[in-house]
Amino acid sequence: MKQLFVTSILGLAALAAAAANPPLRIYGDSGKPDTVSRQTYYLVGITSPGAEAWIDGKEAHVYKTGSFGAEITLKEGKNVIPVKVKQGKKKSEVKRTVVYSPVTVKKTVAITENTRELAQPVYLATDSGAYLQYGNGGDRLGGSKIGFLDQGVELKAVGETKGLYKVQLSDNYFAYVPKEYVHKADFNPVVVNSGSASLANIGKADRVSISLPRRVAYTSMTMIDPQVVKVSLYGVTNNTNWLTQRNELGIVEFVDLQQESDVLHLYIRLNDSHNWGYSVHYQGNMLVIDVRHRPKSLDLADLTIGLDAGHGGEFPGARSPSGLLEKDVNLDIILKMADMLRAKGAKVVLTREGDTGPSMTERKRIWRDGGVDIAISVHNNSSGNPLVPMGTSSYYKHICNRGLAKSLHESMLTLGLANFGLVGNFNFSLNGPTEYPNALVEVLFMSSLPEEEMLADPEYRTKIAGRIVAGLENYLREAAKK
Ligand SMILES: [Zn+2]
Repeated sequence: MKQLFVTSILGLAALAAAAANPPLRIYGDSGKPDTVSRQTYYLVGITSPGAEAWIDGKEAHVYKTGSFGAEITLKEGKNVIPVKVKQGKKKSEVKRTVVYSPVTVKKTVAITENTRELAQPVYLATDSGAYLQYGNGGDRLGGSKIGFLDQGVELKAVGETKGLYKVQLSDNYFAYVPKEYVHKADFNPVVVNSGSASLANIGKADRVSISLPRRVAYTSMTMIDPQVVKVSLYGVTNNTNWLTQRNELGIVEFVDLQQESDVLHLYIRLNDSHNWGYSVHYQGNMLVIDVRHRPKSLDLADLTIGLDAGHGGEFPGARSPSGLLEKDVNLDIILKMADMLRAKGAKVVLTREGDTGPSMTERKRIWRDGGVDIAISVHNNSSGNPLVPMGTSSYYKHICNRGLAKSLHESMLTLGLANFGLVGNFNFSLNGPTEYPNALVEVLFMSSLPEEEMLADPEYRTKIAGRIVAGLENYLREAAKK
């Protein structure tokens, strides 16, 4: 009886589907006319896969996702664009109204606010999570970060703007710090002398220590060819007369102290072709820089790989025209990569394994606590022309991670994808850590109809996962040679 009932329901559903007109909706249609200031308009519709479609009287290719689209050159004023789909003998039709009104839009490069000078300097100390940024400008990813600071670092604020203090690091260097990460403190802002410095092998890292009378502000950056970690101490005069090397070092070739005005630079030159990560923190008033040694083995079986699927939970990321969610695509690719890496013996540390949306801070904590040797984030892009393949891209922030990002990118390009580029100085939060090499792969564009079709295909997602893993293996193989 139950069986019969189910069968008859399915039969009815099939009949209903056969009788209904094919579905048709216009992507981004709010029900009101669309008003635009650009003459080129991309109209994207969604129907059922296998239907035929026409936009403005011209046939449009219907992808396996059911998405189709066309480029329309608008005339000034009101444009009524007919959209028609046909499946068998059944048809659906809608009209899309687009109003083209060419206006000159003032282009704003970045949202910057005027910084108000403070009548008196305000003395501050950092709290957990504090970071410095170059300017007070903001974009989608926030003002460009210089780097994080340890707690209790003393800063002199000379100006303020919404949510930020402008701090004077030295005679000539200024930066911004978010107000939420500092508290008022009392200290004497005179230029200080550096004390004794030392260099030691502490096992998995070489440690550079320099004693200071108080926790001064610092920044760090990397250089390549040769590999250098440069740490700058602000408001410090070099009074370090010797640099003691205690025992056989693992990666540091030498440290050179260079004074520039009231900034003391520590050039930490590595004897390795790669930078395997470093951290900067205070122990009391001693600034400590730990530079990680090259892993003993670069076989995947001996490494811990951090993996991160972008977005998740209540944060879907980009949504493709046919309704594919970026968070789901990212996770599927990452889980496939995790399987492949585990099959090769690697230990894998995932920032999420299901439909959850941990914060960026939480993701970084998971990687740090998991002791990752290398970390990779996967996202998918959105924007631009939906009618053409937009391409794959890879990203890094610190120059020392360019090699990893480049290797992942080149491996992705072997799939014959369009090349959206290799991008450096990228201000993505998970590219910020210096403790381990890291890179971001923006696989393809959810908004591009041909790429949406690729991303919707589970077999293609397996190929993508395979190419990212191969890119990582190429990177390790090349590194092992040098
Ligand atoms: Zn994303």
